[in-house]
Order: sequence, then structure tokens, then C-alpha cells
Amino acid sequence: MSDSDQIQRILFDELDVRGVLTRLDSAYNEALVKHDYPPVIRKILGEMMAAAAILSANLKFEGRLILQAQGNGGIQALMAECTDKQELRAIARFDGDIDENISFTELMQGGALAITIDPAQGHRYQGYVPLEGDTLSDCLEAYFRYSEQLDSQLHLACDGEKAVGFLLQVLPAEGGIVEDWEHISQLGATVKEEELLQLDNQTLLYRLFHEDNCRLHEPSPVVFRCDCSRDRTAQSLRFMTEEELHEIAAAEGAVEVACQFCNTHYRFDDADITAMFSVTGYAPGSDATH
Ligand SMILES: [Zn+2]
Repeated sequence: MSDSDQIQRILFDELDVRGVLTRLDSAYNEALVKHDYPPVIRKILGEMMAAAAILSANLKFEGRLILQAQGNGGIQALMAECTDKQELRAIARFDGDIDENISFTELMQGGALAITIDPAQGHRYQGYVPLEGDTLSDCLEAYFRYSEQLDSQLHLACDGEKAVGFLLQVLPAEGGIVEDWEHISQLGATVKEEELLQLDNQTLLYRLFHEDNCRLHEPSPVVFRCDCSRDRTAQSLRFMTEEELHEIAAAEGAVEVACQFCNTHYRFDDADITAMFSVTGYAPGSDATH
């Protein structure tokens, strides 16, 4: 499918409505390939990645958007991150046995869903997403309603191989909005999961809105990319003392840390540890193993 690993904006010529469509294929699979997640986790992570890609399309500065979930249904953390350059990564931490048929509501029971905006410069902002509705998309629609005061319709679909996100949103403009939105949202609501997963963007839009003039903007690519580094991993070890790190290295040959997102292993031997705590600081090497 030619629309894979892209994000594309939708414009309605005569209506105060906009849209965004994203399809994740390689970006989704590369994020998950090094993890042995059960299908129910693969599906929800795919939906979260598609949602993060769509939400990040509105970032107006360098930084990242993080969609994060925790729940008492065995989920310690689900996380999907997307940068302003549409670089995605995702991670799941969960208790051993997740019921294969568990619903999103059960998974999230007693938990929290949050959106964090993390600019490269400046302060982080975190907003909580109300757990209203049976699906992730229901909750995010409620978030748009409360936080942006914009009527939105979000469709998310994932079959374990690819993930699709489709957002329709009223344009913040004067006049005509109610009718335009009612019209487009009624048509949008008829979309089926199979259509989202199987049709290309042009065909999908034609099927839904062929009586309204709507156009697809030039697509932009979405990729999997983890921005972990040896240097940053070394920094993250500084919560321990030099002595503690040398003790681990003595016992295990080296201090080894694996990135939770991409599973890159970073090894720090005695010389590295000493350098980390020296006045001149730690010089990043390149001995990461994949
Ligand atoms: Zn990584």
C-alpha cells in the first residue's frame, strides 16, 4: 500500500473541517520487532502509535509528544512517543499474563492516560486524558473536547501488522461550523475498521466524502526511530555512586543497560565508569551492541 508510513492532512474546500490520516506499517513493526508482546498489547500499542503520530502533527516546535497509559488490569506502562519530525517509538511493560480478551476499559481500570508535550527547549506540559468511553479513541475525543474545545472524531485501528489513525476535526473558525461538522462527522462515523485497514487514503476519502470537495495534502513520512545514546545512558546511571557501579562491573564483567524502546545494549566497563565520574567527564564511545 503506497500510503504506508505516512501522515497526510485532509482539507475540505468548502467546509470548516480538517482531517489527518496516518498509516503505520514498517514504523509499527520496527518498534515492536524486538519485543515479544501478546496480540492484545500489540493492538493497543499500534493504536497509541497512530494516535501519537496524529497528535504530534500539531507540534509547532522541536520536541516530542508522549502518550502514556497505566492501568490496574496488568499494565504497568504503555507508551508511544512521536517527535515533531514524525519519528515514533513505543514500549509496553505489563505483568506476565494479560487476558487475551481484555477490553480497553478493563485494561485501564483504576489507571490513567496522559499526554505529555516535551519541547526540546522549555518546560514539559502534561494533560490527563479523561477515561470516558470504551476505547482509546473515545477517550482522546473527550480530551480534544475539553482541552481544545474542538469537536473531533478519531478512528484508530490496528490488526497487529499495521495501524491506522484517522482524525476529523472542526476548524476553529466563525460561522457555518455546526452544519459543516454535523455533515462530515455523520459521514465519518460510518467508516468501518476493515475500510481503514484495507483502503488507500484516496479511496477511503472518496468512499466517505465523494459529494464534498476534499483534498489530500502532500504526505510526510513517519518512521520508527529511537534516539537513545550511549552518552544519555551513561547519564542515567549517575543515580548510582561510582563505587556501586564498580561493584556491579566486578560481579558481572561490566554494567550493561538495555534501552527499553529499541533493545540496544550499552556496556560500561571499569574504565568507562571511572571516566564517567572523572573531572573531564565521560567521552561517549560506540560499542553499543544490537
Ligand atoms: Zn533505544
